Amino acid sequence: MKVPLLDLAAQNEPLKNELHAAFERLLQHSKFILGTEVESFEENVKGIVSSRHAIGVSSGTDAILLALMALGIKPGDEVICPSFTFFATAGCIARLEATPVFVDSCPVCFNLDVGDVERKITSKTKAIIPVHLFGQAASMNSVMDVARRCNLAVIEDAAQALGARYRTHAIGSIGAFGAFSFFPSKNLGGFGDAGLLVTDDDELAEKARILRAHGAKPKYYNKYVGGNFRIDALQAALLNVKLSHLEKYTERRRTNATYYTEQLSKLSVSSLPFLDDGCCEGKLKAKASNDSPLLLPATVPHNFHIWNQYTLRVRGDGQRDALKKHLGVRSIGTEIYYPVPMHTQVCFQHLGVKPGSLPTACALSRECLSIPIFPELTRDQMDHVISSIAKFFGC
Ligand SMILES: *Cc1c(COP(=O)(O)O)cnc(C)c1O
Repeated sequence: MKVPLLDLAAQNEPLKNELHAAFERLLQHSKFILGTEVESFEENVKGIVSSRHAIGVSSGTDAILLALMALGIKPGDEVICPSFTFFATAGCIARLEATPVFVDSCPVCFNLDVGDVERKITSKTKAIIPVHLFGQAASMNSVMDVARRCNLAVIEDAAQALGARYRTHAIGSIGAFGAFSFFPSKNLGGFGDAGLLVTDDDELAEKARILRAHGAKPKYYNKYVGGNFRIDALQAALLNVKLSHLEKYTERRRTNATYYTEQLSKLSVSSLPFLDDGCCEGKLKAKASNDSPLLLPATVPHNFHIWNQYTLRVRGDGQRDALKKHLGVRSIGTEIYYPVPMHTQVCFQHLGVKPGSLPTACALSRECLSIPIFPELTRDQMDHVISSIAKFFGC
């Protein structure tokens, strides 16, 4: 049985008529740059995130870049972000000639370790970028506390977390900015590249909108050096179709995650990290340090996890790669998010961060393996994944 990591054709097929209708509409009015399609998409996302402003952009990466530009991050500034994340989080900081300052991660929720954030703040620190990795919120109360105390801006990298919640708050609405991505593998997967930026701040929103179109307002009168960071009207029109199905997709991902956890926790080799009163919320009581060869992903009880990925930790030298291979032979798609922590990337070696100084980020990079969790996954497919994992461990 084939179990791909993601099956976008299966997701888009039932929407064919709606998608065709949106495309027809666009062909007829032929307004391809910004306009009503983009505005309507922005309005709809605002509804989900409960933010005052939503600004459709060309990608999740550009959403982060635009947020940093709107905040005036400049050469020499320091911006704190986790080492265990997708490259774009750190790359955008470096592209502005600011310095990414990498912090370690929580071994249970995989998000940034706020204690390490506090240790790394200097007089040059201007902002923090928490990443809501795999669809689960970072410890935002602690992040916002530190940020307020030290007068730092917070940009939420919410690329993987549209619709997720931290306590009662929609992800993306907590910091100065929230950056979303509609890259096809995200929970709202587009038809190419697209992203969106949200904020409650009127001035920052205005600046970001101007920067999205070269920094000009009116056209040809440039107040800032911006770029072309616009979302395509076509992309917005198609995404609008999918957006109305997002809640259903999320529910299915959550059901799939519950089933995996239920079944995989029956294996003698597995364990679910113990959680007490939240994880790295200033008082890390979570114990991921037991010796189980297989650690299942934990849901912090006060979070609404949207499961962009279901990520296992496979302990033991070479075991993660061996499991990946074992599943591959059984036609099960998996992915390593992420094999190289940012502080060990070639392009960041000049920053001189010692590999061993961020031990959890390094351990996660060696041990993490994401298995299929997409909404259209069938019970049979999941059972094949579960039994194949059991077989690997000889259970
Ligand atoms: C996908 C992703 C991005 C970048 O989004 P793109 O739309 O691919 O540019 C940034 N940060 C994280 C954590 C991501 O997963």
